[in-house]
Amino acid sequence: MEFKDKTNTIFAVFSAPRRENKMDILDQPLFIIASDDLRRKQSMAQKYDVIIIGAGVVGSAIAREMTRYELKIGVLEKNRDVCFETSGRNSAVIHGGFAYDTGSRKAECCVEGNQEFDKVARELDVPFKRTGKVLVGNTATDYESLQKTIATGRNNGSIGLKMVDKERLHEMAPAVIGEFAMLSPMSGIVDPFQYAIGLAENAKMNGVDFYFDHEVTGIRRQADNSYTVITTQGDFNTGWIVNSAGLGAVKISEMIGLPGYRISSTKGNYIILDKRSALYCLCLFILFQAIPIWASMLHRPLTVT
Ligand SMILES: Cc1cc2nc3c(=O)[nH]c(=O)nc-3n(C[C@H](O)[C@H](O)[C@H](O)COP(=O)(O)OP(=O)(O)OC[C@H]3O[C@@H](n4cnc5c(N)ncnc54)[C@H](O)[C@@H]3O)c2cc1C
Repeated sequence: MEFKDKTNTIFAVFSAPRRENKMDILDQPLFIIASDDLRRKQSMAQKYDVIIIGAGVVGSAIAREMTRYELKIGVLEKNRDVCFETSGRNSAVIHGGFAYDTGSRKAECCVEGNQEFDKVARELDVPFKRTGKVLVGNTATDYESLQKTIATGRNNGSIGLKMVDKERLHEMAPAVIGEFAMLSPMSGIVDPFQYAIGLAENAKMNGVDFYFDHEVTGIRRQADNSYTVITTQGDFNTGWIVNSAGLGAVKISEMIGLPGYRISSTKGNYIILDKRSALYCLCLFILFQAIPIWASMLHRPLTVT
């Protein structure tokens, strides 16, 4: 496994024996995934090969994936369960991979992740629907912008992107008014809670220890290059740290001694038009307005889901 920094330079190569006998499939959900870990009193620092900070969807997915290797893994989470922050407060879209710059790691991961999502959802028994997504446009500028999006998406490996005319748009989404739309048939929706919980439960089944109510407050580098991670409920020694702390990731980075990252935020409005249009019900297509450039500059995009 290679680890790269934000300039894409490899700064560490990680090797651990791979084990093939771990369970991919979540047969029986473990509803309380960490009660025994929570109760474990720490009289001395726990020792791990890898400490993952943050049990959102990213930390939980990394924890699950890392159980394919012979590693002792611990996850430290400041909240009392997984998915308490951004991973439980999003639009639930499995993106098609057309929105990222060609050649970027985001584009590569998005397209690959999208294409393997049926399998992952089956393994974790998580509801997932390839609803498709339409980006609706009205003007010549919108048309040009959507054509560019299609070209970027195709270069990224996104499957099935195409323009549809007004009639087809109306057939697909009768309530939507627009002159044309870009259709991404591979886009879909998932239950974000069940997905993150499924990942964490499967990781737990495969031997990962979860520590909830453990906020990381400091990190010390030791002479042998290992780390001591200090939390509100005791210390943890580890050879490797995975920083998946979401909005807390900058602080963790600084604690490790890697300053310079920053979070850039955008404000937007979500309008819930019909609560019944949920995963099991009438949400046929995910709709995003083709955002005019002035709106995105004002940081005031309007998203209709
Ligand atoms: C409005 C909105 C809509 C979105 N829609 C989509 C979408 O449709 N599709 C999509 O793919 N993405 C979407 N996203 C993005 C997606 O939700 C995030 O990329 C994803 O949830 C990030 O997951 P994460 O695990 O990195 O972060 P988080 O879910 O924030 O998890 C980080 C965890 O780290 C923990 N933590 C932080 N600091 C510490 C500390 N010091 N000690 C211990 N624990 C700590 C936090 O408690 C948290 O649980 C959306 C985001 C937003 C805001």
